[in-house]
Amino acid sequence: MKVLVINSGSSSIKYQLLDTETEAVMVNGLVERIGEEVGDLKNKAYPDTDDEAVTKLHQSIPDHTTGMRLAIDLICDPEKGVLKDKSEIDAIGHRVVHGGEAFNQPTLINDEVIAAIEACVPLAPLHNPANLDGIRVAMELFPEAPQVAVFDTAFHQTIPAHAYMYALPYELYEKDRVRRYGFHGTSHKFVAGELAAQIGKPADELNMITVHLGNGGSITAVEKGKSVDTTMGLTPLEGLVMGTRSGDVDPAVHAFLARNKGMSIEEIDTMLNKESGLKGLCGLNDMRDIHAAIEKGDERAEIALGVQTYRNRKYIGAYMAVLGNVDGIVFTAGIGENDDIVRYESVKGLECFGVKIDEAANANRAKEPMKISTDDSTVAVWVIPTNEELAIARETKEVITK
Ligand code: ADP
Repeated sequence: MKVLVINSGSSSIKYQLLDTETEAVMVNGLVERIGEEVGDLKNKAYPDTDDEAVTKLHQSIPDHTTGMRLAIDLICDPEKGVLKDKSEIDAIGHRVVHGGEAFNQPTLINDEVIAAIEACVPLAPLHNPANLDGIRVAMELFPEAPQVAVFDTAFHQTIPAHAYMYALPYELYEKDRVRRYGFHGTSHKFVAGELAAQIGKPADELNMITVHLGNGGSITAVEKGKSVDTTMGLTPLEGLVMGTRSGDVDPAVHAFLARNKGMSIEEIDTMLNKESGLKGLCGLNDMRDIHAAIEKGDERAEIALGVQTYRNRKYIGAYMAVLGNVDGIVFTAGIGENDDIVRYESVKGLECFGVKIDEAANANRAKEPMKISTDDSTVAVWVIPTNEELAIARETKEVITK
């Protein structure tokens, strides 16, 4: 089955065409700067053995429809495309950020589903409208193909009330749906499934802690294959120290800044999301730059690394308490897959809970799953590359073949 996976943002569309039988990527593409004077499109076809495999366009791309049409024309070019006709695409899988409490699994899209995604716009005002743009364009371009929405929040809908409720006036939950939702669900579910495969047991027999550390980061406690707590909350700001996001702070910081510095709610929100985290602490938000700065003796970079890894460790420890018995911990995403220092610092001191890291194994970097704990570690620790596109393609296939 050929599945086109679409991740539509406010000014960009990421897409990937996958063959779900072989799980091979056939095309990988990115449309950027939609709506700006000049936009960009990069389309890469596999196998990429010749130069013609990559096509770059630099032209006006006024809207998502134009961007998607350009991509489809490249994918389905009767002469040079990997497909000859768009009817060869069997299904479309859409990444949707927020499914609120309405969606606990990937769902076949119809008018009712679109209305329910729209109803979640107040919960994700930047993301859901852009995701809906992608859905509408794809429905127009592929009226025959089934379309499936795969939600970032769905995996976390199994979190029990004692973990998703905030201790706020109850009406805020009842009327305004203020609660913990959690994000990166597709990635957490994917790496939990891959870890279970590595351990050689079904996911529903295992307790795992999944640690997704990219530009954004979150950790999830997975009990018998189900999410039971996660660090992100109502929005993706809560929890870990991220590239530019603060993660947990005293909620009174808003009032403090408003009263003492005259900052508006908008200014505070922007500061916590865009000017905080690693960047706020040391001016750098890329972990590679932080390590380079530490080598040169930059103390603030060292503090930033310490604050980030301490927060990771604190949550891993908290989720060990939540789960009781932990079979495995898995690190994933840009930092989790590549940064042995962050991994080491995030689990150090947990030997008393059965976590023993094999330092030589941890020093490796691999594109494949790799075990970084010692053989006598009672908790298996792994690094497993996440692959949200493949996860969306698999889930899309599952929905339409059910
Ligand atoms: P996103 O959340 O945008 O999907 P990624 O998962 O791609 O992000 O992670 C991006 C981050 O990964 C970068 O900001 C960088 O800090 C980190 N990263 C990437 N490569 C390395 C590396 N070799 N060593 C340390 N950190 C890395």
